[in-house]
Amino acid sequence: MEIRIERTTTPKAKPVDESQLGFGKIFTDHMFIMEYDTGKGWHDARVVPYGDISLSPAAMVLHYGQEIFEGMKAYRTPDGEVQFFRPEENFKRLNSSAERLIIPEIPVEDALQALHTLVEVDKDWVPHTDGASLYIRPFVIAVDPFLGVRPGDKYYFIIICSPSGAYYASGLNPVSIYVETNYVRAVKGGMGYTKTGGNYAASLAGQDEAHKQNYSQVLWLDGVERKYIEEVGAMNIMFVIDGELVTPELQGSILPGITRKSVLELCRKWGMKVSERRITIQEVADAYDAGKLQEVFGTGTAAVISPVGHLKWGDKVMEINGNKIGDISQKIYDTMTGMQYGKLADEMGWIVPLKK
Ligand SMILES: *Cc1c(COP(=O)(O)O)cnc(C)c1O
Repeated sequence: MEIRIERTTTPKAKPVDESQLGFGKIFTDHMFIMEYDTGKGWHDARVVPYGDISLSPAAMVLHYGQEIFEGMKAYRTPDGEVQFFRPEENFKRLNSSAERLIIPEIPVEDALQALHTLVEVDKDWVPHTDGASLYIRPFVIAVDPFLGVRPGDKYYFIIICSPSGAYYASGLNPVSIYVETNYVRAVKGGMGYTKTGGNYAASLAGQDEAHKQNYSQVLWLDGVERKYIEEVGAMNIMFVIDGELVTPELQGSILPGITRKSVLELCRKWGMKVSERRITIQEVADAYDAGKLQEVFGTGTAAVISPVGHLKWGDKVMEINGNKIGDISQKIYDTMTGMQYGKLADEMGWIVPLKK
């Protein structure tokens, strides 16, 4: 694929204090964009100065939400190089989302080329502080000006980048999670396994309720019986019960996390007992009462591992591992981030250096 590069003539000042980056607020100097038209395919791939895009108020995405996205990072190694973590997995998942929403697929090789080209142009924006990274947001939107409900005929594939601070500025502090028993996020047959905006819009009311009760995130249950555990807002969830790592199986309503997949592969390699199966919130509560619930943690690109310190289900509040990170969570976190930041050897073949 041919990618035209137009560099900005007015580069922005890079943030000096990387401890103040936060998440998703600052954007780099450039973005990648290419267009799709029915009959023509993907065309006009280019890296251009970051800036507003113009859309018709009738653009289809604004009305019916035909949109998909990804979330990934570029990491800076101790010797100053830049690298990615399993980026092809993100673009395969983008295509799986695309298929569900009748969005034209993007060849994984082309998407990877777009990623490497954009990050090479903006590589000075990859933070140097330990734990900070360049968050990368690829997305596709339907842009035809048309108010009928049908798949679009014109799309934009865009990649933007945002330098983001360390998720854990002061150690891995456990989060408090609220089990949502009223609202549901997704159901089997719906779009739960895709990264599409509508799923997140559906999650806001539950999230709001959790915040009102001083919990930081929501644990979703299945949409049919409100019994089986699904996942957290933007993380998959794992339990260590009596020495066994248990996580809900992928059955259509859960996002197939790349961190989830990597953690399972790592734990299997370490010889741990690992199972992907249906698990009810009642089973978790029973394990807690029996003293067998050892660790609970979320997995996702943003935090990698997010230990859960408190889990509230109805009137029951479970305090897990004395509200401290557990040994298994810590070991997984250290190994994954060690590889991502180039401090540990990549024994799994997961690291992809930025092409120069
Ligand atoms: C992105 C996301 C995850 C985590 O996926 P990763 O590939 O590990 O970042 C989990 N659940 C939801 C709902 C998500 O959007």
